[in-house]
Amino acid sequence: MARPDILNPLFASVSTVKGVGPQLSKLMASFFGAPENQDAVLLDVLMHMPSGIIDRRQQPGVQFAQPGAISTFLLHIDRHLPPPRNNKRVPYRIEAHDESGEITISYFAGRASWLEKTLPVGEKRYVSGPVTFYHGMAQLNHPDYIVAEDKFDELPLVEPVYPLTHGLTSKKLQLVTQFALSKLPSVPEWISPARIQMNGWPSFGEAMHQTHNPKTPADAKIEGAARARLAYDEYFAGQLALQLVRATMTRESGVQRQLDGTITAKVRSALPFALTEGQDQAVLDIEKDLESNRKMARLVQGDVGSGKTVVALMAMAAMAEAGHQSALMAPTEILATQHYATISAIAEQAGLRAALLTGKMPVGERRAIQARIESGEIDIVVGTHALFQSSVLFKSLGLTVVDEQHRFGVHQRLALSEKGRKTELLVMTATPIPRTLVLTHFGDMDVSLLKEKPAGRQPIDTAVLAASEYDRVISRLKAKVAEGAQAFWVCPLVEESENLDVISAEDRHKSLANVFGNRVGLVHGRMKADEKQAVMERFQNNELSILVATTVIEVGVDVPNATIMIIEHAERFGLSQLHQLRGRVGRGSQRSACLLLHGEKLTEMAEARLITIRATEDGFEIAEKDLELRGQGDLLGTRQSGMPGFRIAIPDFHKDLLEVAHEDAIDVLERNPGLQGEEGQAIRTLLYLFRKDLAIPLIRAG
Ligand code: ADP
Ligand code: MG
Repeated sequence: MARPDILNPLFASVSTVKGVGPQLSKLMASFFGAPENQDAVLLDVLMHMPSGIIDRRQQPGVQFAQPGAISTFLLHIDRHLPPPRNNKRVPYRIEAHDESGEITISYFAGRASWLEKTLPVGEKRYVSGPVTFYHGMAQLNHPDYIVAEDKFDELPLVEPVYPLTHGLTSKKLQLVTQFALSKLPSVPEWISPARIQMNGWPSFGEAMHQTHNPKTPADAKIEGAARARLAYDEYFAGQLALQLVRATMTRESGVQRQLDGTITAKVRSALPFALTEGQDQAVLDIEKDLESNRKMARLVQGDVGSGKTVVALMAMAAMAEAGHQSALMAPTEILATQHYATISAIAEQAGLRAALLTGKMPVGERRAIQARIESGEIDIVVGTHALFQSSVLFKSLGLTVVDEQHRFGVHQRLALSEKGRKTELLVMTATPIPRTLVLTHFGDMDVSLLKEKPAGRQPIDTAVLAASEYDRVISRLKAKVAEGAQAFWVCPLVEESENLDVISAEDRHKSLANVFGNRVGLVHGRMKADEKQAVMERFQNNELSILVATTVIEVGVDVPNATIMIIEHAERFGLSQLHQLRGRVGRGSQRSACLLLHGEKLTEMAEARLITIRATEDGFEIAEKDLELRGQGDLLGTRQSGMPGFRIAIPDFHKDLLEVAHEDAIDVLERNPGLQGEEGQAIRTLLYLFRKDLAIPLIRAG
């Protein structure tokens, strides 16, 4: 179905508005996040919500004006007092009065011709702005609005205030917004009458008018009915899209897998440790999912070091019992290789055949492995997203495991869902995700939580030091390395480019090699996969004492013997990143340390981050603090990975609406899976308005 014609006017470029030139149009494209090489459209402007209002309704009369208060007066203009020539420090003043008293309107560098026309002597004008006092005399400096007595209607008594950017003025934005409002068509209602009535919500069109053209402050309030309705709409559209995606993925009703527990038992006995309670529970959850006739869509969420890999292995072992293959997809080559190393040893002891498949493998080797996957000789394939290229054919893929899903871009995820459509799905993530985000980013996956860390873990001593303590750090490191310790040394993140990251890592590698000789290795993102791999292996085998690295080691690297983590310019890293990095140590039974070195100048934010990371190892607490410090959008790196952010809904205010929208979306699609009839038409319109129309082809036919 194509976009409903009634919406076309809203998809017109902002450049069609009089007064918006190419430069402003370009600015707005980037400000509103329009797709590359496209203009922002009127709809984008309507979706840009006010952050507050200016209330101009106070008309106290001059005598009762309060300093600083934004007030509106009906003034009789008495006299113009232009400044003496060539004296720019004296303002152009205009004396005026109402029944209660006198007031001066003043303009620095005011243009006489314009002022004489705008404020003609002997006439009355409505004038609005903040009042100041000068020598006891009420003043309006550069008032915001002046309108003729009979044009009172044109004065925005309650004026929305918008987030702006350099080069986009409030007046300009309001102009475009008002134009866009005038193009807003009447759209069919997609919310059920009951829900509308219960909340006292206006229609979509009314809600847009109220927020952008408020008559009372309540109209535009974030908690107000208009804004709540629009927030619901945004959530509803998002939830519908997610449900449609999920329905596509789980459409083939699940297969009831027959598990006999033989292979998982072998894996358990091959493991050098017992599973934690959380791991046991997660495995039980997964087995139950597999045995049910519903398709599994489960998220295993556990802090760094909580042992998610083993859970994945158990799941794959269970799938092998059921007679099908499993694929484990990791976000990087290093991680895939590492997972393979951990998994293959244990898998082999349990009689499972595992293989590694990455994009960087030599073609011949890859083909050979592909052939074995196709013939069913392989039970478990570990790899990067190369696994889901069309050339890889599975004999019978039953389970897809995705590690650290938030690292994947949209394209990989789409490719995954193509291939994984018929399989059970298990997602593992270290980022503690609040329920709101689980719903918005993953739909309603079931969640297994790994709350505790494996027993015997020692806390990590975290210290914050100035970079000027470098010499002391080195001498302590020397002593530790002499005792056989291994250390990660993470180099500063340089915002401008990865190249600079690499340069700083190379420099640090050189200076450390001066002290530690060939016991120091280097990995960074610009190295070839096999080079990185070789260095990692030497570190894992304890042939290297110190591994200098850019953030390539951030996710998932597991070297239990490494007990020291040193992070340079720690102030440049985000909280979650620091937590992830620190999680690389403290994995064995030995006590570990994390040193955060910071540069001279610390911003308040950076200091708050370092204090937090020193104070706690609790990933949930850190994630919460991170949310607080950075705001919602960034937690999963939504910008980079193209995941949905919200324009209208503010989760802190509209959290409850998300749940409601979630349930309504499930409900509608259960009742009307083909989205037919008037209701279906209305919902499709909603999906277009909120740019979720990519989901429309997923609507079940008939
Ligand atoms: P993450 O959840 O960060 O992916 P890993 O799966 O890499 O964690 O596990 C971290 C480390 O903990 C690994 O060395 C792993 O072998 C070990 N581990 C996992 N489960 C247990 C357990 N139940 N008892 C002891 N060690 C465990
Ligand atoms: Mg992991």
